[in-house]
Amino acid sequence: MRKIIIAGNWKMHKTQRESLEFLQDFLPHLEETPEGREAVLCVPFTTLNVMSKNLHGSRVKLGAQNIHWEEQGAFTGEVSGEMLTEIGLNYVIVGHSERRQFFGETDETVNKRLLAAQRHGLIPILCVGESKAQRDAGETEQVIFGQLKKGLVDVDQSNLVIAYEPIWAIGTGDTCEASEANRVIGLIRSQLTNKDVTIQYGGSVKPDNVDEIMAQSEIDGALVGGASLTADSFARLVNYQ
Ligand code: PGA
Repeated sequence: MRKIIIAGNWKMHKTQRESLEFLQDFLPHLEETPEGREAVLCVPFTTLNVMSKNLHGSRVKLGAQNIHWEEQGAFTGEVSGEMLTEIGLNYVIVGHSERRQFFGETDETVNKRLLAAQRHGLIPILCVGESKAQRDAGETEQVIFGQLKKGLVDVDQSNLVIAYEPIWAIGTGDTCEASEANRVIGLIRSQLTNKDVTIQYGGSVKPDNVDEIMAQSEIDGALVGGASLTADSFARLVNYQ
């Protein structure tokens, strides 16, 4: 059985105070959430601790947005697996396109971060996806298969989530057609040895398109940026029809 996971990626948004305000409004909505659906919030490092304390005993799981592969050392600005697990997390996003684009992340560093996450008992959410230019050049499959092949070396596929996030659909309001996202996610699944990996779609998921996206046979969840920032909208996504 594939697990359904709706995850918010807060990126560089929300102070501690704003995070707590969000939770106050969001948590009551979970009473309507059907069994077997997981809600995850991937928040900035600075709010992980306060979120962990305030999510204790709730159904919401917590995630970070990055992890370094070394245990400790001279890596200014990075955070280790032990630092994260001490706080009590479940997930960590790895290889988001913004990290690949703005912070020099490569398939090789993505692979090292995935392995580090698993070594520390965290479930990595591996992001893959093509740019607009790559899609227009007919390279979507090739790009994604390359990211999977290099990213997944020695990775345990029984503790893994994948998010298909076409770069041109992120933060643009330009959602990938649900049927096209379903097709690409089917292709991603064809490359995996474990066919039960949860594969999410990400890129402009909103209250008005979540039902159609989640109705697709291959899509097991969503990774959501903008629409995860307000409690009402994220609740609507988690409680999709
Ligand atoms: P978006 O971001 O929902 O704002 O398009 C998705 C993501 O980057 O994970």
